[in-house]
Amino acid sequence: MMKSDPVIAVDGLTRRFGDVVAVDGLTLEIDAGEVFGFLGHNGAGKTTTVRLLNGLLAPDSGAVRVLDLDPQSGGPVLRRHTGVLTETPSLDERLTGRENLEIYADLYGMPRAGVAERIESLLEGFELAHRADEKAGAYSKGMKQRLALARALLHEPDILFLDEPTSGLDPVGARRVHDLITRLSREQQRTVLLCTHNLAEAQKLCGRVAVLEQGRQVALGTPAELARTLGRSQRLEIDVAPDNVPAALEVLETTMGIAAPALENGRITVVGADREAIPDLVSALVSADIRIYGIVPQEPSLEDVYFALHGEEVSG
Ligand code: ATP
Repeated sequence: MMKSDPVIAVDGLTRRFGDVVAVDGLTLEIDAGEVFGFLGHNGAGKTTTVRLLNGLLAPDSGAVRVLDLDPQSGGPVLRRHTGVLTETPSLDERLTGRENLEIYADLYGMPRAGVAERIESLLEGFELAHRADEKAGAYSKGMKQRLALARALLHEPDILFLDEPTSGLDPVGARRVHDLITRLSREQQRTVLLCTHNLAEAQKLCGRVAVLEQGRQVALGTPAELARTLGRSQRLEIDVAPDNVPAALEVLETTMGIAAPALENGRITVVGADREAIPDLVSALVSADIRIYGIVPQEPSLEDVYFALHGEEVSG
C-alpha cells in the first residue's frame, strides 16, 4: 500500500435487512492516523457500517477496501490489523481477565515471546493488574469495558473500531481512554473509528465526523466545516460588570443594531457575530463607560451542528 492511500475507502456502500436500508450509498475515505467519528441516532447505521468494514457482513452493493483488502475475502488477514470494541463486548465471563487476553493472543496468532509482557502492560495500563486473576464475570461494568478495550489493543492493530468506548466508564476512566485514543493516532499513526452518541467526546477526539441518518450520510467533515456548511452562526459572549448589564444591552440594541441580545448566566450572548465584530463592540461599550471583563468568540459546537442537522435547536 502506498503511504498516501486511504486506509479505508468506501464507495456507494449499501446494506439492507429486509425492507430496512441500514446503510445507504455510503461513500468516504479515511486516512492513516485519523480519529474519525460516526454519529447518528439509534438505528442510523453506525454499527452496520463497522460490521461491513470488518467483513462481518457482506454489502448488497458498493465497494469497500480496508488496508487495501476486501474485508469479505481478506477478512482473516485484515483482522490481524484491526481491533474491534463492540457495543456489547463478548468476554468469556468464566475466564479470568488475564485468560481472556491470553486466548485472544492465541486467536490472533501472536508469537508467544513477548505476549505475557504485553498482557501485563495492558493490565497495568487499564488498572486491572490487581484483579487480573479473578473471573471476568465478577468485574464491574467499567472493568469489563476496560478489559474489552485492552483486548482490542492486544495485537497493536493499525485500525481500531470503537463502539461507545467510554460507555460505563467513570470520568477518570473516560479521560484515560480519550488520552489513549489521541496518543494512538498522533504518536503511532493508528486510525481510530469511533461510534458515539457522546457529542462532546466526538468534538474532543475526532478530526472528522460523518453523521448518518437512516443509513444515509447527511454530513461529512470537520466539526468546523459542518458548522460553516450549515450556516451556523458564531456567537460572542460578552462579560461586563453586573451593574452595567442593562446599559450594555441598551448600547448593543441601539448603537450596534443587535436585536434583543440574550442574557445567559449573567453574560450577554450575541448571535451571528464573529471576532471581526469585537473592535466595534468594544469601542461602543467603552464609549458608554461600560466595564468590559471579556469578549469571547464561541465556535458552534458539534452539538449545535448535530441538532441543526436533525432540525432541532440546542436548549440552554
Ligand atoms: P445504535 O446507535 O442504536 O447502536 P446504529 O446506528 O448502530 O444504532 P445499526 O445497528 O447499524 O444502527 O442499525 C441500522 C438499522 O439496521 C436499524 O434499523 C436496525 O434495526 C437494522 N439492523 C441492524 N442489524 C440488523 C440485523 N442483523 N437484522 C435486521 N435488522 C438489522
